Amino acid sequence: MPGDALFVARLIRRNYNKIMKKVTFAALAVICFLTLFSACGTSNEQTSESYALDTVCTQSVYGSRAADAVDAVNAMLWDVTNTMSIYEGSYIYEINAAAPDPVEVTGEVAALLQAALEIARETDGAFDPAIGAISTLWDISGTPRVPDAAEITEALALVDYTGVTVDGTSVSLQKSGMMIDLGGIAKGYAADLAAEIYEEYGVTSALLNLGGNIYVYGTKTDGGDYRIGLRDPFGGAGEYAAVVSVSDTSVVTSGVYERYFESGGETYHHIFDPETGYPADNGLVAVTVICASSTRADALSTAFFVMGLDKGLALANTMDDVEAVFFTSGRDIYVTGGLNESIEITNEAYTLQS
Ligand code: ADP
Ligand code: MG
Repeated sequence: MPGDALFVARLIRRNYNKIMKKVTFAALAVICFLTLFSACGTSNEQTSESYALDTVCTQSVYGSRAADAVDAVNAMLWDVTNTMSIYEGSYIYEINAAAPDPVEVTGEVAALLQAALEIARETDGAFDPAIGAISTLWDISGTPRVPDAAEITEALALVDYTGVTVDGTSVSLQKSGMMIDLGGIAKGYAADLAAEIYEEYGVTSALLNLGGNIYVYGTKTDGGDYRIGLRDPFGGAGEYAAVVSVSDTSVVTSGVYERYFESGGETYHHIFDPETGYPADNGLVAVTVICASSTRADALSTAFFVMGLDKGLALANTMDDVEAVFFTSGRDIYVTGGLNESIEITNEAYTLQS
């Protein structure tokens, strides 16, 4: 009724100041709340960059105890470095130095060795944790040089994972001079331990990168998948060939560009073919493995790289828990069945082959 409307209008006019105060107060309260809320949303992200496992390790972690989680992971990374590296002070060093005598190790070291041996069997020795005699001979991360053929033959006789015995927590190598090198699996193992730590600290989302060994914990804070760029093997850091969208899994790449040296116009990288003792040279330039177990992803990326495109892709396609991406020197990309629809090629120099 017009009379009622008039009454309401008068009422508003009479109480205009009071009403405006209330509206302003409510608006301010909403703004404060939104500001606080968004502050919470961003301030609980913790980032960290550290050096461990012979590489740069970065974390981006969300959760109310993210800072503690980041510190715990950094401490763990050093622990794994000190325990599993090939250098003096580690259990691995002790095992290598004592060969052929047995050494008592922790249950943790024995379990990782068992996991490494398991993958060696699965890949018919393409991944061989007893690669130490060859990897130390080339010394790609130290003072690299091209060994002569006789040196390679001699070292190759000491590369054989079937000569590694793990009996409970007692570990022995068959011959003196044999050496375990967990460089192809330790980062993946550390990433799996990081995921356990994130869970313990109630982390809601995290992205961990251990020198190309990526672990995606949970989803992004908006609930979406993380988009992980796969590096252009011929490009620099930050240049990508493709993108995969993933959550709660690990994305690990073994590539010729990770570690290498040049001599006499040739490039020598750090992934060795246990059959030849030379860097694997089969037309692949990188292999990425996606697998919930980062330990597995790390060792398998090394193995598939050594096996080459045909054998590697065939084996990857038989594994239910694994997807893989193979990059050839001709800039072709081959993927396992589960990725055909979902991988995005973001660099037009590359072609997805099927
Ligand atoms: P990155 O260390 O760059 O991530 P990988 O995971 O492929 O790359 O590991 C390469 C390391 O693994 C080498 O530095 C060496 O220590 C070790 N390695 C090399 N060839 C083999 C192999 N065939 N089997 C097991 N480990 C290997
Ligand atoms: Mg590896």
